[in-house]
Amino acid sequence: MNLNKRLVIIGGGPAGNAAATSAARKGVEVIVVEREIVGGAAHLLDCVPSKTMIATGGAMSFTESLSGMGLSNRDAEIDVNALTDRIEGIKNRLSNDMTSLLQSQGVTIIRGSARLLNANTVHVDASDGTTHQIQADDILISTGTRPRIPQFAQPDGDRILTTRDCYPPRIFPESVTIIGSGVTGVEFAHMFASFGSKVTLVVSRQQVLPGKDPEVAAVLEENFLSRGVRLYKGARATNIERTEHGVRVVCDDGRVSETTHAVLAIGSIPNTEDLGLEEVGIEMDGGYIVINRHCQSSVEHIYAAGDVSGKLPLSSVASMQGKKVAEQVVGGPRGPHRHLDYDKAASAIFTEPEIADVGLAEAEAFASGRKIRVTKVPFATTAKALINNDSRGFVKIISDPATGEVLGGSIVGRHAAELISVIALAVTANLKVSDIEESLLVHPALAEALSEAAE
Ligand SMILES: Cc1cc2nc3c(=O)[nH]c(=O)nc-3n(C[C@H](O)[C@H](O)[C@H](O)COP(=O)(O)OP(=O)(O)OC[C@H]3O[C@@H](n4cnc5c(N)ncnc54)[C@H](O)[C@@H]3O)c2cc1C
Repeated sequence: MNLNKRLVIIGGGPAGNAAATSAARKGVEVIVVEREIVGGAAHLLDCVPSKTMIATGGAMSFTESLSGMGLSNRDAEIDVNALTDRIEGIKNRLSNDMTSLLQSQGVTIIRGSARLLNANTVHVDASDGTTHQIQADDILISTGTRPRIPQFAQPDGDRILTTRDCYPPRIFPESVTIIGSGVTGVEFAHMFASFGSKVTLVVSRQQVLPGKDPEVAAVLEENFLSRGVRLYKGARATNIERTEHGVRVVCDDGRVSETTHAVLAIGSIPNTEDLGLEEVGIEMDGGYIVINRHCQSSVEHIYAAGDVSGKLPLSSVASMQGKKVAEQVVGGPRGPHRHLDYDKAASAIFTEPEIADVGLAEAEAFASGRKIRVTKVPFATTAKALINNDSRGFVKIISDPATGEVLGGSIVGRHAAELISVIALAVTANLKVSDIEESLLVHPALAEALSEAAE
């Protein structure tokens, strides 16, 4: 089916690719313009390599617990070249798979940099030196973000690093100061600590992971302290300078951290400059594109999805937004559908222990005065935790005391990122705790803690 409609997508990350495959399947002619790597800069330069390194670091930590599994301890050593090959292999495999998928759906991929010439024309400076002006019925801006650099820091790719400078991992820092203790900061602190670096984490508030459940943050802090990670709580970095053998990070409370390296993990800024957005009348807010619930910008046929939309900066959210764009391009969703509810997005933090949550948080309910029922079950109650020789962590389910509806939950512990799917499904489908309790789950499995928490 050909709808005689052309969608031009600027940016081939999770948002752009999901929109492209979905729209192409619906009969739309799709052109994706990508200036770097199909699969997305953030997805393939941030998310996947960081998780790959964390997985290797986790395998190293695992070897330390082998004696508890009835095996002799063996020390693992890092092979930097093998790890680099592993990261590159995964990155290329994912990018090639995505390219093949797009091509198999008939999507045209142009390598190059794009911008709007007017509301229906996209100008492309292709990487082969040619230029193109492409007419479009609909346009999607999905250009992602890049690391934010504070005024007081000058990343040099050597000692003062952004998160993207950390891979491929040429060396592992002997010691590192990480500035920022949000999701990215704590993941990098965990990653470097797993590889034996001496880590200092600059935490601007009184807890790591500001905004997260304090009980969850406390478990992570305890783990960091037990591994020798120094926490500079209530401190903001105000200066970073090179020293003879490393860096010196100065904080506003007078504390100083001298380490061989520093990593900036203080958020991202949107790639929306020089795209001609304001010129065609697109409303912006702090560099992000303002969108409605259909991901339409203030110019109806120009959409924004993914991190540039200033909603939740998650790959999963970007992909879902991309699919919603494809639906809208063909005239709106067919049949029963749900609007994208950002409050119901599950997210995970790949630390030790792993952390995941979804939906309403206890503190949020408390602040709004909403009555909730909270049940918490430690994994230690399950046989699987004993079998795994890892009894850390818990499952927490938050429900409506009157109706039993599942409103949210958090999980701390092994496989938290996988297990949260059960609560995420319950939250999205408005299921009740009794639906989880009555599901016949596997034994022995950590998921049994979910059934117990739902009782
Ligand atoms: C360190 C780190 C770890 C992360 N880990 C996770 C995680 O574990 N799970 C998770 O869900 N999310 C994670 N994220 C967030 C996730 O990577 C982003 O939410 C996601 O990649 C956003 O997708 P996107 O499509 O909006 O943009 P991107 O993935 O950034 O893709 C945008 C693309 O647009 C291209 N582009 C930009 N401008 C132009 C132009 N003018 N012309 C042509 N092409 C252009 C870029 O080259 C890029 O490929 C992480 C982020 C960081 C920084």
